[in-house]
Amino acid sequence: MELYDLTVHEIREKIKSKEVTIREVLDSVYSRIDSVENKIKAYITLTKEYAYVRADMLQNKLDSGEDIGILGGVPIAIKDNICIKDVKTTCASKMLENFVPFYDATVIERLEASGAIIIGKTNMDEFAMGSSTESSYFEKTYNPWDLNRVPGGSSGGSSAAVSSDMAFAALGSDTGGSIRQPAAYCSTVGMKPTYGLVSRYGVVAFASSLDQVGPLTKDVTDMALVLNSIVGHDTKDTTSVNLEKIDYTKCLVNDVKDMVIGLPISFIKDGVNPEVKKAFENSLNKLKELGANVVEIDLDYAKYALSTYYIISTAEASSNLGRYDGIKFGYRTEKFDDLLDLYKKSRTEGFGEEVKRRIMLGTYVLSSGYYDAYYKKAQKVRTLIIEDFNNEFKKCDVIALPTTPNTAFKIGEKTTNPLEMYLEDIYTVPVNIAGLPAISVPCGFDTNNMPIGLQLIGPAFEEKKLLQVAYTFEQNAEFHKMKPVI
Ligand code: GLN
Repeated sequence: MELYDLTVHEIREKIKSKEVTIREVLDSVYSRIDSVENKIKAYITLTKEYAYVRADMLQNKLDSGEDIGILGGVPIAIKDNICIKDVKTTCASKMLENFVPFYDATVIERLEASGAIIIGKTNMDEFAMGSSTESSYFEKTYNPWDLNRVPGGSSGGSSAAVSSDMAFAALGSDTGGSIRQPAAYCSTVGMKPTYGLVSRYGVVAFASSLDQVGPLTKDVTDMALVLNSIVGHDTKDTTSVNLEKIDYTKCLVNDVKDMVIGLPISFIKDGVNPEVKKAFENSLNKLKELGANVVEIDLDYAKYALSTYYIISTAEASSNLGRYDGIKFGYRTEKFDDLLDLYKKSRTEGFGEEVKRRIMLGTYVLSSGYYDAYYKKAQKVRTLIIEDFNNEFKKCDVIALPTTPNTAFKIGEKTTNPLEMYLEDIYTVPVNIAGLPAISVPCGFDTNNMPIGLQLIGPAFEEKKLLQVAYTFEQNAEFHKMKPVI
């Protein structure tokens, strides 16, 4: 067992008790990166120098008897759409290839205040638009469980880094499934918190009413620890909620007796791969064995969530990405005739295919002749989806769904058919549309040994319930202990 194999809670105990030094921990994780990163390509930038400076600073504090925080000395990776002062933040786009923010995102300030050490920025789909990390301008990331397959996306680099032990934990962002889907594909734990629970300040916007930052970890205990660090009110984000702080580690209770789990039976009738379905059913049986009650529910409008998502998210994206005009910041074309030509060429050359597709779709659904038919209609359906969840949560504590209808697909398999790629999000997007919290936990493997995720969805701000059910499942199923052979 190497140090990099350990979880956040294991390594921080070793650091605290001085069984290991923080430098030793960093050496271990960077040596792991040296040996497997050439196969996985999870990172865009490594922040080695900065990490060692912080390691020495934290070690000195620890040696002089100070408390170094709940993540004291723990190496963590960050998706490359989250700003870190003086560190390149590219969003995996040519547009931001050389963008260096002059401030930290609030989540970075919080992680560092808890003693975490940021070791690098991870690869993603360009501007977080995608489900495979193939649309990154720089490189593709490979799934640690099968190098011919995608790690999922858009937080594919973060999930692959955690799953291959190149980071103890990572942050990702989830607009329609980008934390949970790669978590399912790579066998990590991924959570999309309730909208408003985690600050979006300093996170590059994709679709502002859906975006939420969350952790990817090796187990549910680590999830609670990282959440403890990043959750909290932020006056710099007007959508941030001001709630009393919760210690999420208190939810790590191995007990689901009397918990009611809702099963939206008609939503999963068609289109789910039989092996995924089997693993999902086995997981529910396990939870039943452990004392949970499973009740059938109806999410009648959930089947419209995907169409709603691709209207609302593209509309918001087209507006958010208007700021990349070749003038304020980001890529600027070299030769141009006039101002309009400068805008056009900078955007044509700076954005990739998928981003352009979304900007065009978004502009279309917002245009005067189509606004009522698409955007306004989508907002109405959004309300129906929210009401649907509210009603069903009167009958259950959490709702269970497979995280994805399939396991990780082969690289290149879906790049020519965007609709097929969009369908992978069918079970994750309703959660963002309704602003709810959801977690994906490893729940099995298919016959190709590819990981499968169980998704649990909770009422708003009930991360507690999700952690309790996920923890109980994990402790009794133990899929999280499996590691890929790289
Ligand atoms: N795969 C979805 C999309 O392409 C979700 C992306 C995300 O959550 N950032 O929009």
